Amino acid sequence: MASSLIVRNATIVDGSGGPGFSGDLAVTDARITAVGTIPASSDGPNTVTIDAGGACLSPGFVDVHTHDDRALLRHPGMEFKLSQGCTSLVIGNCGFSAAPAAVGRTDPSGLIGVEPTWTDLDGFRAAVEAVRPSVNSMALIGHNSIRTLVMGEERRAPTVTELDTMRRHVEAAMGQGACGFSTGLIYRPGRWSQTDEVIELARAAAGGGGLYATHMRNEGDRLLTAVDEAIHIGRTAGLPVQISHHKSAGRRNWGRIGASLAKIDAANAEGADITLDVYPYTAGSGPMAQYFDVDNVDPELAEVIRFASCPAIPEYEGRMAVDLAVEEGVSAAAIIEKVLRSPKGDRTVCIQFIIDEADVEENLRHPLVMVGSDGIPDLKGRPHPRLFGTFPKVLAHYVRHRHVLSLEEAVRRMTSLSCDRFGFVDRGRVGEGQFADLVLFDPAAITDTATYDDPKQEATGISLVVVNGQIALRDGTHTGAGAGRFLHHNR
Ligand SMILES: [Zn+2]
Repeated sequence: MASSLIVRNATIVDGSGGPGFSGDLAVTDARITAVGTIPASSDGPNTVTIDAGGACLSPGFVDVHTHDDRALLRHPGMEFKLSQGCTSLVIGNCGFSAAPAAVGRTDPSGLIGVEPTWTDLDGFRAAVEAVRPSVNSMALIGHNSIRTLVMGEERRAPTVTELDTMRRHVEAAMGQGACGFSTGLIYRPGRWSQTDEVIELARAAAGGGGLYATHMRNEGDRLLTAVDEAIHIGRTAGLPVQISHHKSAGRRNWGRIGASLAKIDAANAEGADITLDVYPYTAGSGPMAQYFDVDNVDPELAEVIRFASCPAIPEYEGRMAVDLAVEEGVSAAAIIEKVLRSPKGDRTVCIQFIIDEADVEENLRHPLVMVGSDGIPDLKGRPHPRLFGTFPKVLAHYVRHRHVLSLEEAVRRMTSLSCDRFGFVDRGRVGEGQFADLVLFDPAAITDTATYDDPKQEATGISLVVVNGQIALRDGTHTGAGAGRFLHHNR
């Protein structure tokens, strides 16, 4: 059978971490059928052939930390991901997942924000498949979403019946192909849960072969205690742990990522199974109402806040609270309070400059740290540039300029490590029989162009992205192939 796509004259960086090599690659339908030297006789009349000109051909990147649940429905072209070379996403992070849900009841967190027409993961999968998204996805089931569904905003431990209902939601999602259970223990309502509740629900995910992905209870002053809790949950519930967007937040805590990684290394040496992800920026971003007590706004945090989307006062978008404070003759905390008390103030997404650059590099040096964007896909306003720039920034800045890690190692941490961890089968490597999720880029030219001032910019230096054997992006043009699949864990 003739190949549908042949890429010749590439430097293949295959995702294993091994050195790149020169070669060609052939795709038939959704899979890679040959790697090596592909003779001209393989070209059929309908074969698309591409001369890579020596550029780097690697597995499509996997964004292990996204909040793209609703984006898959609202922006099925997922241009901000495809243009980074991303072909697969893990959704449902930080305890917020689109499923389970109650029909018509919007998640109040601000991270999902879509009116569900489904109740469970199968229903959400059908909704996503109906819009033919351009990228693959895999779902975590989120603690905050389950807890809100079952207990509302109750600030107490669940009753036996409530815990049982939550457990059944986790079990059902695992049966419908979720890859694990996620928490966001700084957020409402997750912050009101005790460790035992999380362990009970994580156990249900363990029973389905899943992992536990956590936005830990603390990422600042009590980071190490929070790491201990994550290790304890993994050990007691008996499942692997993914520590999400590993950071040491707040100036007084900078430089402590090494101690946190050492603790994780020590636990792994004693039989724990912990991996991590990081985004390559010194600012975080998320729903502002979750970070502040409106009656007692933290002045230190207020000073490092920038507005991404601010439907209450759109003129604030792209501005630092400290600059607005000077203009208005008030404190930065007063600016935050004013926004939060305004109508639609709860829909503000902020950017917070809380991370040390040296800590970002230390994270990226560690062999168990994957790349995850944590992008908030609110395209109104000025989102954090990680939404468009994460993967190219790792390759441009940390590989090419800073030499923090090699090209091959960076690709491994964006592909095979991620796929193996989250249960993407036959993905994350360039090899015969693997799915043809591919990215072709020039390692000397690839550049993230998204900035805080101008964040909605697609990267340059990526010439081709293939999803399930279909060309999704070529020379800057999105083809609209819509070849992404909503995948089942380990299937
Ligand atoms: Zn998070």
